[in-house]
Amino acid sequence: MKEIFPKLYYKSKELFFEDVPLKDVAEREGTPTYVYSKGALQYWFEEFDSAFNEVSHTTCFAVKSNSNIQVLKVLRELGAGADTVSVGEIFRALTAGIDPKKIVFAGVGKREDELTYALERGILMVNVESEGELLLLNKVGEKLKRRAPFAIRVNPDVNPKTHPYISTGLKSAKFGVTFDRALELYKKAKELRWLNPVGVHFHIGSQITDVSAFREAAEKVAEFVKEIRSFGIEIEYFDAGGGLGINYHPDERVVPAKELAEEIVPIVKELDCHLILEPGRRIAGNAGVLLTRVLYVKKREEKTFYIVDAGMNDLSRLALYNAYHHILPLEEKKEETVVADVVGPICETGDILAKERELPVLKEGDLLAILSAGAYGFTMASNYNSRPRPPEVLIDGDKFRVIREREKLGDLISREEVL
Ligand SMILES: *Cc1c(COP(=O)(O)O)cnc(C)c1O
Repeated sequence: MKEIFPKLYYKSKELFFEDVPLKDVAEREGTPTYVYSKGALQYWFEEFDSAFNEVSHTTCFAVKSNSNIQVLKVLRELGAGADTVSVGEIFRALTAGIDPKKIVFAGVGKREDELTYALERGILMVNVESEGELLLLNKVGEKLKRRAPFAIRVNPDVNPKTHPYISTGLKSAKFGVTFDRALELYKKAKELRWLNPVGVHFHIGSQITDVSAFREAAEKVAEFVKEIRSFGIEIEYFDAGGGLGINYHPDERVVPAKELAEEIVPIVKELDCHLILEPGRRIAGNAGVLLTRVLYVKKREEKTFYIVDAGMNDLSRLALYNAYHHILPLEEKKEETVVADVVGPICETGDILAKERELPVLKEGDLLAILSAGAYGFTMASNYNSRPRPPEVLIDGDKFRVIREREKLGDLISREEVL
């Protein structure tokens, strides 16, 4: 059996994730529905994490890519920590049982209550992105009478050659601070009693498939670590961020995590630091699919539209980044194909799941899987058009269970003042 992605394959013309025919999930839970595979999560986590075994390291899963507590729990059991960007994500990570000493906290706009929460819970470090934040963190530390462990997020000014919206390590981006500024901040922190510099952080972008950008960034940051050490600032943690890309098309090459490790590990070894990594998409992206059903087939002279019941509110990547997601029927069809647009039900022309795509001839009621939907899928879903968000289902071997219920109509108005 040839796998399309790890754990995803056709058997007797039916699309399976692990040992579960996805049709069974669609029939029991309805559509649209997010489905994750525990086995695939394990596969991708291990492929990534083991690549760095030569050095002491912690793989902190980027919670924003998939925040479901049961998904976090699967990863925690494999040894994952958490990379968080809000108090809500720290709350989720702790609820999933992740050790606070494996939680890092990034983000350009952290509020005082968020820094307080993070420090009270004893997380590993706050990845500070500005002078104002550093001063506020010192103040919070003073209030709690706890020295706040922190890293400065430096912006190494490299071009990761990815989509501009997910490119974060260029000087023009809002993230991090320049090396010059970072040096001043570390020096300043020495004079502030409630700050404890423990690391340095960078994260250059997402969906990066050219690993040379990682080496370029890591080399620059390593030079910087040597410089600040010469001022007596001891840095223990070298946090290289996330961003390793996945293949959104099954036939595309997957960059092995080992190739990323080859770029970074020698640098970290020389520094004798503990390495932190923050992969999100790489772990969860191809461990999830979104199931949807064809509602209508609309034929124009030149064009066929497949109108499905999942839209850009369920999977925003489509409209936000004009993203490619591979689509497969749950029942394999090999004969005739047609070039069609797959569109959602949302009242926006941009609600397109696939543009001029060669697909099998489909009929109303047919079930489809939108692949690579495990990361930045459910977490970016909204209630736009007053659509209840889909449920999340976790497959484990030949079993599956709902790990987040489908929202109900009542949920849509539960926080509003009703007549
Ligand atoms: C988004 C983000 C990540 C994860 O990015 P992926 O491309 O999903 O690996 C890691 N670190 C930080 C600081 C982020 O903002």
